[in-house]
Amino acid sequence: MSSSVIDFVATEARFGAQNYEPIGVVLSRGEGIWVWDTDGNRYLDCLSAYSAVSQGHCHPKILAAMVEQAHRLTLTSRAFHNDQLALFYEEIAALTGSHKVLPMNSGAEAVESAIKSVRKWGYEVKGVPDGQAEIIVCANNFHGRTLGIVGFSTDPETRTHFGPFAPGFKLIPFGDAPALEAAITPNTVAFLVEPIQGEAGVIIPPAGYFTEVRKLCTANNVMLVLDEIQTGLGRTGKLLAEQHEGIEADVTLLGKALSGGFYPVSAVLSNNAVLGTLRPGQHGSTFGGNPLACAVARAAMRVLVEEGMIENAARQGARFLEGLKAIRANTIREVRGRGLMLAVELHPEAGRARRYCEALQGKGILAKDTHEHTIRIAPPLVITSDQVDWALERIAAVLTQDFS
Ligand SMILES: *Cc1c(COP(=O)(O)O)cnc(C)c1O
Repeated sequence: MSSSVIDFVATEARFGAQNYEPIGVVLSRGEGIWVWDTDGNRYLDCLSAYSAVSQGHCHPKILAAMVEQAHRLTLTSRAFHNDQLALFYEEIAALTGSHKVLPMNSGAEAVESAIKSVRKWGYEVKGVPDGQAEIIVCANNFHGRTLGIVGFSTDPETRTHFGPFAPGFKLIPFGDAPALEAAITPNTVAFLVEPIQGEAGVIIPPAGYFTEVRKLCTANNVMLVLDEIQTGLGRTGKLLAEQHEGIEADVTLLGKALSGGFYPVSAVLSNNAVLGTLRPGQHGSTFGGNPLACAVARAAMRVLVEEGMIENAARQGARFLEGLKAIRANTIREVRGRGLMLAVELHPEAGRARRYCEALQGKGILAKDTHEHTIRIAPPLVITSDQVDWALERIAAVLTQDFS
């Protein structure tokens, strides 16, 4: 069907809440690293739905698992057992080395669930006086969009006119271990942090930071909660980003790629102590842990490992980073990345990153700007060397282009 039958962009603008400002492309099909628009133009997807489509668009094995499960049983609610949840628990626990699992849907729900759980642990196990629990978080964090979460954001756009907000959060700079040490009090129950700050522009903390963080949390009986919703499941070239420093979080949050982009599936993973405090009736979700979600997530985890996507992310990420660093353009201020979580930060004088993303679209690459001056590059983890080189050629052409 021709795209002129309905003007998708105008119709979205007419009826939809305008809480996004999409690049002007209407997508209708995807396969692996590629997506196609309604006119049949092909693009390399360098956003991967903010890392949710790490396994590549419409992965055939995840698709098959989803269709097969959808024919049998989709939703039971947790009022009854289903024959997928136990298998999902077993497989995600084995993959990540976790003891307890709480299945949810969106990433923000996993974060909210972790906040509730560590507070409960604080009162019932650590002995914090009721109502006094403190959670330490970092400036420029991104943990989702719920009221509880935006309350401790430092991004004015995210917060303005959405208050009043819940108390109990303390902000410190990211990458600063002495600031964490200074912020911890006897009432601190957790430190919630992203291993790499994705939405802030792929900010990688100094080497050794998380080793120090782990020591401080252990010494002060503070739960280390790592939000690996974006960094997890191979994106940075390891299963979990925490492995780059050889540490283990007490609570790990996964989402996004946990379903390979087919369905919202998230999870809180923890040691026995934190999730062990939840009793029947104290927390829940109608869709959390449903058989369709579990079947999809099981397939998404399986292909990630079986098809070597994590190793590929490390290999192609190194190639991509090296290639970006080799681009000689006075528009570039800094190139950063780990695995296939990459970013090019432009000089402010180079103009908004958005127009570079629009120029990339013209060359068959979809990427997304973040924070005015940064282009984020995060293709699906199935990208090949030739495809990385193909992308680099086009990115170099755009970054050296004269817009004036
Ligand atoms: C995307 C993201 C979230 C929120 O996930 P949603 O599914 O959009 O609610 C939380 N934390 C991080 C680090 C993310 O990248």
